[in-house]
Amino acid sequence: MIETTQFLWYLLKSVIDVHLSALLPARLQRRWCEKRLIRSIREAYENVPLYRRKYDEAGVDMNTIRTVDDIKRLPFITKDEVRENFPDGIVARGVNREACHYSATTGSTGRSLPFIFTKQTFAFYIATGVRMYTMIGYRPWHRMAYIKYTDLHYPRLGPFFQTTHIKSTIPVEEQIAQLREARPDLIIGYASLVYEVARRATPEDLKLIRPKFIGINSELSTQDQRNFISETFHCPVYDEYSTEETWMIASQCRQHNYHIFTDNVWVEFIDSRGREVQPGEMGEIVLTTTRSPAMPFIRYRIGDVGRYRDATCPCGLGFPLLEAFEGRADDCFILPSGKFVSSLKLLNTFTMYIKKYLHLLEEFKVIQVSSELIVIKIVKGSRYDDSQLEELLADLRRLLDDSVSIKVEFVDVIEKSDGIKRKAIESLVGKGKK
Ligand SMILES: [Zn+2]
Repeated sequence: MIETTQFLWYLLKSVIDVHLSALLPARLQRRWCEKRLIRSIREAYENVPLYRRKYDEAGVDMNTIRTVDDIKRLPFITKDEVRENFPDGIVARGVNREACHYSATTGSTGRSLPFIFTKQTFAFYIATGVRMYTMIGYRPWHRMAYIKYTDLHYPRLGPFFQTTHIKSTIPVEEQIAQLREARPDLIIGYASLVYEVARRATPEDLKLIRPKFIGINSELSTQDQRNFISETFHCPVYDEYSTEETWMIASQCRQHNYHIFTDNVWVEFIDSRGREVQPGEMGEIVLTTTRSPAMPFIRYRIGDVGRYRDATCPCGLGFPLLEAFEGRADDCFILPSGKFVSSLKLLNTFTMYIKKYLHLLEEFKVIQVSSELIVIKIVKGSRYDDSQLEELLADLRRLLDDSVSIKVEFVDVIEKSDGIKRKAIESLVGKGKK
């Protein structure tokens, strides 16, 4: 009981804290977040063996780490390092591990990554989640339904914070039945699951399921999918970008711009050589948590890629903007210049031409064999045409650097590489190096 009351107290404090910090003007907010960032890094050096060892080995004088530019001198950490050092190397000294919230994530790699955070951190993470929904119009008296594999046991206060948990692992028909029952104002769930619900819901279902807004999370979704969900439920759909180990990174405001929650996590965008990229350029996302002293992630290579934007949003929020989040770094092509090209972009180029010339290609596969060579395997369609393919190749060349050569191979069939799933876009560069 005491524990619950204490947690609710943390939660209330955090909810107020995150809503106030969102009101700060951009300049003030940045200064405040920077201060918190530097403090978190110094604490990590003091208390976490992994960081102390790494920074000492790299010869970093911690007294010189004072600004966001200075942190660029700190070495990165990878998922493997986190995994190998858990718990003794990466959990801060003096933390009562028994009282912490334990969790793990598998991500798309299928390898488990364990992590912990304190109850205060957990309360803060939930509060940033609440803010994400208040940003799009959610109010405490709205009914919320979330589709997730675990029940988050959101506390309910009388008529306020009414939430329904719908298991992500049950058949879509059952999910729809539960949504009809819950009649939520806000639906939250993985993009592909909400998309599936939207596709399967009957006009009868849609008379009962009438959300005011929908928040989708945890997966890369396409604009087409979001549009379809929005049109089906006649309400706006907002996307978020979060990870289980760091929670909220960014989410869309009512203007559908992604804001980066720098009061939770500091985000850097780097090229394959570790240099900062320019606004609008694709970069690998590097995260530093500023709210999790028990197990801080400092310059953590999460394995995603995205672009940031140097602009302000008409919604008035001071948090900086994420232009796009484009999936896993592993799926990207890395060019000789260090630039990334996302698999999504390459795939979209093919999709565009497959829609334009229906029988041009039967099947294809794009493989980056080395940093300078890309091989495209093609099974010709029934109305294959050289000039149409040339048009497609010209578009691909625009995405890639001049230093990259494209070789086209015509084949009868495309073999599955791992026997289970076939990837249309695959890079053999940098595999296993990270
Ligand atoms: Zn905005």
